[in-house]
Amino acid sequence: MEKIGIVIHGGAGPDSEFIKKHKQEYEEGLRKALDKGYEVLKNKGKAIDAVEAAVNELENNPIFNAGRGSAINAKGEVEMCASIMNGQNLNSGAVAIVKNVRNPVSLAKAVMLNTSHIYLGGEGALNYAKSINIELEPESYFVTEHQYDAYAKKRKEAYASNRHIAMEQIHERSHGTVGAVALDHEGNIAAATSTGGTEFCKEGRIGDSSMIGVGSYADNSTCAVSTTGDGEYLIRGVIAHSVSNVMKYTKADVQEAARKVIFEENKDAEGDMGVIAIDRDCNIAIEFNSARMHRGWKTPKGTGVGIYKD
Ligand code: ASP
Repeated sequence: MEKIGIVIHGGAGPDSEFIKKHKQEYEEGLRKALDKGYEVLKNKGKAIDAVEAAVNELENNPIFNAGRGSAINAKGEVEMCASIMNGQNLNSGAVAIVKNVRNPVSLAKAVMLNTSHIYLGGEGALNYAKSINIELEPESYFVTEHQYDAYAKKRKEAYASNRHIAMEQIHERSHGTVGAVALDHEGNIAAATSTGGTEFCKEGRIGDSSMIGVGSYADNSTCAVSTTGDGEYLIRGVIAHSVSNVMKYTKADVQEAARKVIFEENKDAEGDMGVIAIDRDCNIAIEFNSARMHRGWKTPKGTGVGIYKD
């Protein structure tokens, strides 16, 4: 049987009434994204295109916190981050604090393929997007009722207590960042991640999702990884690259490596952490320390979606 496979996530974090109420829509969204990515692989497409296709689907789905439906920052604006990495050659692309770009992960891919840089941010990233005619949308496209309500609630609380949302309150945040890892028929792996960041964060905040080695990492000799959870903790743990390193230096398999990084190396981290990973043999890992992680997988061994711990 041909070894191709894909794993996706739609964010790790606390449970909420909203998630419970929309469980079916989430599962349907995950299935659609899995199918989009898998179709590319089945048609002998590349892993890098499969992860982009899956993430695009999730970015376009307003229920996830990426692209349309992104979290709103304390200034009342949407600023998005994304990254992508090709395990075949370590080529990478990333964008941070971008506005108006319908599919930030596709902009990250364009940075990877068409520039001599890896990471563009802010206005420069937007100007680059315009120069290559990437699809743009007005601010209103990105703002959903659900995210606006979350923003309004946080704003009220912040005004009432006359202070900013503190680190201790981080657990109240919902996470719906999206990501994908895939293995193609040529034996190449890739990873991609895209996010609207965290609710009511400071203007200009950059989380883990756009950072190569933290939000995304892919190396054919080890694995492809995409992460989600509390960026401030994921960055300290350099999570995606750590999973790859544990495989490389301890000869652990991909699942052991993902477990080690979340539950041993970072056992004292107080933030939510989730990882998905795949290796060249189509072994996969899905690990999280949070109440739930939206996820889906499709490999020759089977397919499925899930939200809560089994
Ligand atoms: N990791 C993302 C960030 O901190 C949020 C998430 O995964 O939901 O920006």
